[in-house]
Amino acid sequence: MNGTPIKRVVIAGGGSAGWMTAAALSKFCGRAGISVTLVESEAIGTVGVGEATIPPIGKFNDHLGIKEDDFVRETQATYKLGIEFVGWGASEERYFHPFGTYGFDLEGMDFHQYWQRGRDLGEDHSLDDYSLNALCAYGGKFLRPEADHGPVINKLAYAFHFDAGLYAAFLRRLAEARGVTRVEGRIEHVERDPESGLIRALALDNTQRIEGDLFVDCTGFRAMLIEGEFEAGFEDWSHWLPVNRAVAVACRREGDPAPYTRSTARSAGWQWRIPLQHRTGNGHVYCDAHMTAEQAEEQLVASLEGEALTSPNHLRFQTGHRKRFWEGNCVAIGLSSGFMEPLESTSLHLIQSGIAKLISLFPSHAESRVEREEYNRLMRDDFEHIRDFLILHYKATRREGEPFWDYVRTMSVPDTLTQKMDLLRGSGRFFKYDAELFDLTSWLAVAEGQGWGPEGHNPVADALSENDLRQSLANMRGTLAKASGAMPTHQAFIDRYCKAPPAEWAR
Ligand SMILES: Cc1cc2nc3c(=O)[nH]c(=O)nc-3n(C[C@H](O)[C@H](O)[C@H](O)COP(=O)(O)OP(=O)(O)OC[C@H]3O[C@@H](n4cnc5c(N)ncnc54)[C@H](O)[C@@H]3O)c2cc1C
Repeated sequence: MNGTPIKRVVIAGGGSAGWMTAAALSKFCGRAGISVTLVESEAIGTVGVGEATIPPIGKFNDHLGIKEDDFVRETQATYKLGIEFVGWGASEERYFHPFGTYGFDLEGMDFHQYWQRGRDLGEDHSLDDYSLNALCAYGGKFLRPEADHGPVINKLAYAFHFDAGLYAAFLRRLAEARGVTRVEGRIEHVERDPESGLIRALALDNTQRIEGDLFVDCTGFRAMLIEGEFEAGFEDWSHWLPVNRAVAVACRREGDPAPYTRSTARSAGWQWRIPLQHRTGNGHVYCDAHMTAEQAEEQLVASLEGEALTSPNHLRFQTGHRKRFWEGNCVAIGLSSGFMEPLESTSLHLIQSGIAKLISLFPSHAESRVEREEYNRLMRDDFEHIRDFLILHYKATRREGEPFWDYVRTMSVPDTLTQKMDLLRGSGRFFKYDAELFDLTSWLAVAEGQGWGPEGHNPVADALSENDLRQSLANMRGTLAKASGAMPTHQAFIDRYCKAPPAEWAR
């Protein structure tokens, strides 16, 4: 089998990971003479959460040839401009982590160095005043950037909130139309080649046997192939990211949908609010060493902004990733490959990233050591970069007197994070390594928002005269405020271009 060319790809699992993979592969596999089959079990179902995204998802949809308005309409989506964090620095504080960038760079120097110098001179404007995304988010505004909108409006960076089940169904239609075969059934047994150890076929409970050359494990937390068969091992990060449970409830939406996710710190974790067109998604993520499932559910239900529409869905997870994402002829994508909690909406992005790397490294033969090693290295880097940014939120808290927060505030963190925090805290210096996902805006937003931001500025920013500096900062604020003020409301934009038909919240 080692020398056999890859002609049959089998995807095990049909959650977001399975259907994103199927849709992406369907774009080229048929023309390359490769068949794609997806096996899923309705009886098992999907994890049923995963509704907030980050901007690269737009590129994924574009690449599949999906029209944005169709996608928004079909998935009951809204636009997302960033995340509001409530109670993460200290209990009563809030800040905004926007997509996009702050201000405009001046004379080749990062904007925030001038902002910091302005602050040293007594200017008291927050970073939000220099973020088009933050201004639009709090003003309830949205306008999709188009080529003729000019450079200011084109600073608006956006992602989506959407119904995960509707997204999988949308991608399923697209993938099936492009030749992907869906097979219903529960995988009961995995057949391996006795000599090479490679997977040959999946045996289903309905007597079907699905043969393949390359298998993508999208079976979610079960990790049925990558762990169940290959015992790839798990790199456990729960000492740095100790939340390990969640409870989710959808509720009726009151008022227009806000174009941002809200994350509110709670005594042993945090709570999300994700506004969609037809409902609001809510969830409480917590650490079971400090809170019971009953307490978590009670707090969540008590804080809903509208009538509950679903019964609480309780989930368990462990933060970390597979030691090997690709073993033999099996590649794990989605929750089977690892999970780092949903704080910055990075899981669907990691799926997208895994798919892109798989396509770039698509093996010609089942035994493909070089591609496999490179894939494993790249995915590990992806996970580690995101991990450090997530830990920052906990480490940089100023909450005291609650065991969960006392633990995360005082825990030791990875050296890679310590280095970044030291550089940022001194004079706001930041360097993005390799293909790191989160950039200066993100790190600055969290550090500054949690009261842990730069203590000084880069002396090079002193080159601008005080008068020019104040004038430039005022001009930027005025330009951005004017641009956001002129935009339609988020609701008006949706009504005009991509309003979903009335839908029952339940599928
Ligand atoms: C609490 C929580 C909140 C989250 N929030 C976000 C978020 O806001 N943003 C984000 O990007 N991500 C989020 N995620 C992650 C996101 O939900 C997942 O990355 C995404 O849904 C992909 O899941 P999956 O497809 O890997 O697994 P699943 O949805 O669990 O799908 C697994 C599939 O495998 C099938 N399967 C399993 N075993 C068998 C078998 N034996 N035979 C046949 N089929 C089988 C199932 O039927 C199902 O189709 C969140 C996750 C959690 C736990």
